[in-house]
Amino acid sequence: MIIENFDLLKQLSETPGAPGFEYKVRNLIISIAEKFVDKTDIDNMGNLILFKKGNSPKKVMLAAHMDEIGFMVRHIDSKGFIKFQPLGGFDPKIVVGSRVVIHGKKDVYGVISSKPIHLMSLEERGRKVDLKEFFIDTGYPKEELDNLIELGDPITRCAECIEMGNCINGKSLDNRISVFILIETLRRLQNETLPFDLYAVFTVQEEVGLRGAQTATMAIQPDFAFAIDTTVAYDLPGASPHEFVSELGKGAAIKLIDSGAIADYRIVKFMKETAKKHEIPYQLEALTAGGTDTARLQQFVKGGSIAGAFSIPTRHLHQTIESVHKDDVKASIDLITQCLRDLDKLDTKHW
Ligand code: ZN
Repeated sequence: MIIENFDLLKQLSETPGAPGFEYKVRNLIISIAEKFVDKTDIDNMGNLILFKKGNSPKKVMLAAHMDEIGFMVRHIDSKGFIKFQPLGGFDPKIVVGSRVVIHGKKDVYGVISSKPIHLMSLEERGRKVDLKEFFIDTGYPKEELDNLIELGDPITRCAECIEMGNCINGKSLDNRISVFILIETLRRLQNETLPFDLYAVFTVQEEVGLRGAQTATMAIQPDFAFAIDTTVAYDLPGASPHEFVSELGKGAAIKLIDSGAIADYRIVKFMKETAKKHEIPYQLEALTAGGTDTARLQQFVKGGSIAGAFSIPTRHLHQTIESVHKDDVKASIDLITQCLRDLDKLDTKHW
């Protein structure tokens, strides 16, 4: 099984972009996607807004967040060990032992560490782990480290993006897989005129509270809006089918609900009909905990927008390395492309 433009996906996955520090991944997106649209803008918060003129001034906004969960240097102790502040929701159990990169004057490798299990008391072994106890060891003493990094520098995970079975596995696939899908959709549509003006937005600071999506939505005031983001695929040992949320390889996921938004029933109907009409495999996704940019896209427009979301089923979400299925990536590009082409057929009448 192959995936077109895997090299771009690999680059997107491996490029750093902690919340508030998305510049490297943003520059990469601009270098690829600028040529597919009519206008490129960056707002004060750092959201990247690619505009493509349509046949009518009605506006559709697509949002894929480009930040990734990361950390910030908070304190460097007298021996050169770093205390850090999480930027986004980490599972503390999986953090220890991770290799990270501190983006200072130059990139510095580090490993997140804690007290070795050999030295833990029985009570310590059974205790819940807390991120506050962890530190980063860079292999440098403080005197050398002080010339390389400083307080406030962002830190990201470090992992190669690979093809693994029928899947892609790498760091930050939340949400670089959606960034990739949005770029590939723009590539496909580059020589077409769509029914409505399109704003393809690569948002900042989603992982710390949907912050970039809020300001971009307030500026654009879309009529229609879709988030593109990963969702949980807990189709794994120990889970019952009602806990899966989504399944790998079963197609593009159409969001019904998450903790911040109920997808508009008119847009859900339109997305399902579009998938059926074009024979694109799809599944429905109801996420019981965790939000996406969908909430801001829907609620920060005067009078609200008609909003929904495309979700990409993802295993091992917010762990060190995440997995998505190649078939789901293809189905998602197909479905988003067709939804944009047919959007003027969406019936906006309330039932
Ligand atoms: Zn995400």
